[in-house]
Amino acid sequence: MVGPVSSSQGLSPEDSQSWQRLRGRLKAEVGDAAFNSWLRQLDLTRGRDGRMMMTLPTRFMRDWVISHYAEKIRSLWNDEFDTTAAAEIHVRPAGPRVSEPAPEAAKGAEAGRPTPAGPMSALSDPGAPLDPRFTFENFVVGKTNELAYAASRRAAESPTVPFNPLFLYGGVGLGKTHLMHAIAWHIRERDPDRKVIYLSAEKFMYQFIRALRFKDVMQFKQLFRSVDVLMIDDVQFISGKESTQEEFFHTFNALVDQNRQIIISGDRSPSNLDGMEERMRSRLGWGLVADIHSTDYELRVGILQSKVQHLDAKNVPLQVLEFLAHRITSNVRELEGALNRVLAYSNLVGQAITIDTTQEVLRDLLRSNDRRITIEDIQKRVAEHYNIRISEMHSARRARAVARPRQVAMFLAKQLTSRSLPEIGRKFGGRDHTTVMHAVKRINELRESDSNLAEDVDLLRRMLET
Ligand code: ADP
Ligand code: MG
Repeated sequence: MVGPVSSSQGLSPEDSQSWQRLRGRLKAEVGDAAFNSWLRQLDLTRGRDGRMMMTLPTRFMRDWVISHYAEKIRSLWNDEFDTTAAAEIHVRPAGPRVSEPAPEAAKGAEAGRPTPAGPMSALSDPGAPLDPRFTFENFVVGKTNELAYAASRRAAESPTVPFNPLFLYGGVGLGKTHLMHAIAWHIRERDPDRKVIYLSAEKFMYQFIRALRFKDVMQFKQLFRSVDVLMIDDVQFISGKESTQEEFFHTFNALVDQNRQIIISGDRSPSNLDGMEERMRSRLGWGLVADIHSTDYELRVGILQSKVQHLDAKNVPLQVLEFLAHRITSNVRELEGALNRVLAYSNLVGQAITIDTTQEVLRDLLRSNDRRITIEDIQKRVAEHYNIRISEMHSARRARAVARPRQVAMFLAKQLTSRSLPEIGRKFGGRDHTTVMHAVKRINELRESDSNLAEDVDLLRRMLET
């Protein structure tokens, strides 16, 4: 359950369900904080003319949501609802929410559809819409995803079928969907005659069940077997769903026989797909299996840099990007979410972005991503590296040979832990927070001018993080 605020008005039970699902997915995508701030009050109603629309209480919220979440909402909307209904967001009238007794809803679920089209109308284009941001150009390549990227490019560019299927797998938020959309965009642009269908395994199942219900299985089969490139995202979804698997298996074989390209993604490798029939698992592993590993620091910085460049957000200092890349290690989706939250906050409050505000805004997220590097670990490593005694971390000596390493350790403590400046000061022999602040500033300056020091810091950070 996503929360009680949305009281969908005048909707069929089916639409209400889709709406709840959409909200749930939206929340999962943008994170709790953003959802609670901006999207919790998003409601779905059906107007007198039978049109569905989303509403928000104020113009400000509406504009904000449109400028920040329109693409996400649109893509979820197209996933959940008939594509005949446009995704529109309006400001809802003040006062109690309009509660219209929608006459159509009383006649049963199907009657409530905005455009009463034939049962198979949804199949005229069974694919899901492509996210315009998910292109090869926008995909940042690093060690962890270079194989998946190269394979995807090959599949997109090759005039023949280079491997069948291409199976991309990896944990959530690591770019599987992005790569699949990128392939589809590329083919659509270069070779518009090739028929490409991209959809989630969930949607595939939905279409299939719908076809069974309306006794249109022939049309379903024809449709899916007439494509040049079939892409099924998140195939793990049909684990344990036997009849869908069966149908998918036949579709798969028919396409392979005709030498059509199949591209599949999953959250684990074919052989580890529990709940998938053995013959299916083995088929899925026939072609090229490319995994996407968890991100590394370099890739995270690269992604953040490319993102701020795109958003033209020049007010984010590199330090903040580095800080985020250090601290949000779970996946790219969370990383992007964190950056968006920081940008949203600074837009709203009109404050410059600093590491402090970033820590403030992302407190909850940072906690959950905390790898628990302790200040003691940092002091120990830094002391070892510079060949000084650990006790010098706490001592009052100001000789450069010990003061500089101490500053490096303070800097790393600020970067790699969630400790506040006063807390850090206390761990360094009870120093004042301004001393820590000064150390952080000084090391940042020196990193620009002193490449040895920059390397030391980088090396220490790496050692601490692995
Ligand atoms: P998955 O399908 O593996 O769960 P997505 O493809 O939906 O993950 O990626 C989650 C988010 O992270 C998307 O907004 C996507 O654009 C972004 N992303 C993931 N990897 C990269 C990358 N290498 N470069 C740029 N953006 C990326
Ligand atoms: Mg995905």
